[in-house]
Amino acid sequence: MELRGQSLIGFEAASRNATTFRAMNPLTGQAVPPDFHGANVADVDRAARMAESAFRSYSRWTVKQKAKLLTQIASAIEALGQELIDRTALETALGQDRLKGELARTCNQLRLFASVIEEGSWVNARIDLADPNRKPLPKADIRSMLRPIGPVAVFGASNFPLAFSVAGGDTASALAAGNPVVAKAHPAHPGASELVGRAIIEACHAGGAPEGIFSLLFDSGTEVGSKLVQHPSIKAGGFTGSRTGGRALMDLAAARPDPIPFFAEMSSTNPVFVLPRAAAERAEQIATGLYGSFTLGAGQFCTKPGLILLGLDQGAEQLSANLRELTSAASDHVLLTAGICKSYERGVTQRTKLRQVASSRLKDAGFRATTTLFETDLDAVLSDHDLAEELFGPSTLVVRYQQRDKLLRFAEGLEGHLTATIHGTEQDLRDYADLVEILENKVGRLVFNGYPTGVEVSHAMVHGGPYPSTSDARFTSVGTQAILRFARPVCFQSFPDAALPQELQNGNPLGIWRTVNGSLSREALSS
Ligand code: NAP
Repeated sequence: MELRGQSLIGFEAASRNATTFRAMNPLTGQAVPPDFHGANVADVDRAARMAESAFRSYSRWTVKQKAKLLTQIASAIEALGQELIDRTALETALGQDRLKGELARTCNQLRLFASVIEEGSWVNARIDLADPNRKPLPKADIRSMLRPIGPVAVFGASNFPLAFSVAGGDTASALAAGNPVVAKAHPAHPGASELVGRAIIEACHAGGAPEGIFSLLFDSGTEVGSKLVQHPSIKAGGFTGSRTGGRALMDLAAARPDPIPFFAEMSSTNPVFVLPRAAAERAEQIATGLYGSFTLGAGQFCTKPGLILLGLDQGAEQLSANLRELTSAASDHVLLTAGICKSYERGVTQRTKLRQVASSRLKDAGFRATTTLFETDLDAVLSDHDLAEELFGPSTLVVRYQQRDKLLRFAEGLEGHLTATIHGTEQDLRDYADLVEILENKVGRLVFNGYPTGVEVSHAMVHGGPYPSTSDARFTSVGTQAILRFARPVCFQSFPDAALPQELQNGNPLGIWRTVNGSLSREALSS
């Protein structure tokens, strides 16, 4: 498929505006054709208004229709096959195997959401039956369920060019909940974004979806994204990226005359606590696992373990030595963008006050970075909280602790993170039960004797956490519960049965689980 470099608004390609940019090949640092034409304010307005108009019909589609559309989109993206993998590899320098896995994850995610809406119980239908004989006042019939929120602005992430981008988790969950999507492509992989965007539009067109259900806007600056979040037709946003970008967009969403929810997944250092008995028993194994985790994807995962809390005993010494050995032998990594590469270099330089205990050697051109391991003691981190901030790229900081009470003080002082990991024995867990209690208030996911990278797309997954890891700790951006971000509860009081949504009708025609007078049931109710 020949790339055209134009935004896609409704079912049409947008006009070729004068501002252009090109993708960069991270391996060479050279620009890659074709030119991509940035959208302008009029394009944002058109896409958002079309989404609002599409919402009126799409939100009323049956679950079967919506589920079918999601699976058709999955098949259309899958059909792009090697062409999509090759273009994405060119723009990101991510390996073929990684990208094939990510493509499968993207399509499976769409199908998983299709199955969730077909099963139907996610809408949290609640029915409180009327009681006309209640004294002193009769009780009305009250029924509620989740309904779609309205058009969603989705910001593609640089570090997951498929699974968190144009057709990623935000788009899949927004469409599944019954909302149109206006996506802002990440400028680091515009070609991959266009291929996926065109596949979505073809599937929507063929599936009879209303025009405007999906649009894709290109831009290599902040104007399009800012205007999109402020547009009155947009009712929610989904974002993965930097704390600076996420915070700016969150603030714009909150400052609108009609504030809207903006779900930003931003920065996380994902502390790992290696407790004494675990270090003594499994030093080499834990070092190998941690090294694999902090260098996976060149350290460009939001769940990268960026802080490793380690004691001073013999097992801990061994673990530290193993990590140094692995890092010294590492080859360099290619990062996704010039910006990420610069921030990484800056972050590494700023940490020179710490002991840089090992680093790999740098070769060749492009957006290359060394693998870097730093080590310091707990006092240094307690007095300089900046050290606990995310450094995106193949680096981690080992923090040596001696006193248990200082370790707990450090944990108390942590800001919000996506994950915290504990390596320990069952006895360690009993000895450090207070640490677990503290961490539960700091993160969205606690990992025991494992590694935080590798986020399963499943029903129970929580990929979220208190600010600044995300803008709203009550939700997840990965897994089927992500759909809850793009829905809102609506209550129907004393409505005739035939006028209610099917989910709330007496006969329960969809056979979903509902909470009737406080108890879960799939039974039909007598009329
Ligand atoms: P980013 O700079 O936050 O950009 C993400 C998207 O948001 C891009 O489309 C960007 O548009 C847009 N954007 C950023 N700031 C904006 C603003 N003020 N107003 C409107 N739109 C805005 O993230 P990135 O380019 O992926 O990487 C930069 C840094 O983000 C990395 O070095 C890393 O520290 C962090 N990051 C973190 C994660 C994570 O999961 N924790 C993931 C990726 C990146 P333009 O690019 O067109 O300006």
